[in-house]
Amino acid sequence: MRAVVKTSSGPGLEMVDLPMPEVGPDEVLLQVKATSICGTDLHIRDWNPWAQAHVAPPLVVGHEMCGVVVDKGLKADGPDIGQLVSVESHVVCNRCAFCRTGKGHLCENTRILGVGRDGVYAEYVAVPASNAWPDPPDMPYSIASLQENFGNAVHTASVPLVSGRKVLVTGCGPVGVMAIAVARALGARLIIASDISDYRLDMARRMGADLTLNPRVDDVISTVMDVTEGEGIDVLLEMSGAPAAIDQGFTTLKPGGEAALLGLTSSSMDFDLADHIIFKGASVHGIVGRRLWIDWYQMRGLLRSGAVDLTPVVTHRFALDDFERAFETMASGECGKVIMFPDPADADGPLE
Ligand code: NAD
Ligand code: ZN
Repeated sequence: MRAVVKTSSGPGLEMVDLPMPEVGPDEVLLQVKATSICGTDLHIRDWNPWAQAHVAPPLVVGHEMCGVVVDKGLKADGPDIGQLVSVESHVVCNRCAFCRTGKGHLCENTRILGVGRDGVYAEYVAVPASNAWPDPPDMPYSIASLQENFGNAVHTASVPLVSGRKVLVTGCGPVGVMAIAVARALGARLIIASDISDYRLDMARRMGADLTLNPRVDDVISTVMDVTEGEGIDVLLEMSGAPAAIDQGFTTLKPGGEAALLGLTSSSMDFDLADHIIFKGASVHGIVGRRLWIDWYQMRGLLRSGAVDLTPVVTHRFALDDFERAFETMASGECGKVIMFPDPADADGPLE
């Protein structure tokens, strides 16, 4: 089968012919229908310091996908052969204290597809049956594929209370704009969004932001204070990892406010702990992955009820054979989610 592989330590990825994956007793074999690109995949392609510390080549990369079950191990009960599924990328142990107390997203033995074990940029992949999430058969493959990433947005926007409250979303990449849609669906009163890219701010408005600010031309802090009548925001959803955005978010957070932080800073940073958190009595939530499986159930509810429509987030489709162009598009930032199809006939929209 064809697969996109990090073949050796260093920048780049290669399309390689590999034997079919072996299916363990608790696993299902999936024929990959669609797969999407996340920032982590770019880091692995570029071989940045994080990738050097976490990835051991050779490795099939990619962790966002949907596919159809084509084979099952002897001990795998569901899902059935023929079922369309999305995949939770964190393979957890189900034995550690976190897994056994409903905190599987913190599992101390987590192995991530495409990072710590072979991933999904391939024609086929074997995953634990318990990681396969059944989708309605008519769900568009692009949407089914990006659900794993949508789960990060659902997680971030569901931990603080957003209903009836004023929310600032800093960073309008794919996860940020999906979080805007979730906050809207959960009843936020006002959603302000910031990004340094006008392309991304346009997506933010289409996904439900009331006001968008570009820190390169707008004074984020004074504008947020003006539109909140001097009070500041109730909730910060930090989706950029940019120190300047983090500072603007906490400066405008009102006393007693809540911050949910998903964006990853590239290194340690200066932060005014006393003024930003302690004297404000602020609550801060670190957000990692998706809560198993509460966030997946909430995603299902938000999508099936029509409360969230992710169609505008899918901006580009490529054949998997064309992965290099797909990665360039993702790296440009002039995109939402970029979806790749191992079989171009499976594409649910025009290919680039
Ligand atoms: P992304 O890189 O596409 O989006 C980040 C956005 O932040 C970009 O649009 C960028 O223009 C914007 N930005 C940069 N500087 C800014 C500034 N000063 N003010 C406002 N916006 C600014 O990333 P994504 O895929 O949307 O993911 C969002 C973040 O979440 C990333 O940092 C990613 O690494 C992280 N992430 C974390 C987890 C987790 O489990 N914690 C999971 C997935 C992604
Ligand atoms: Zn565990």
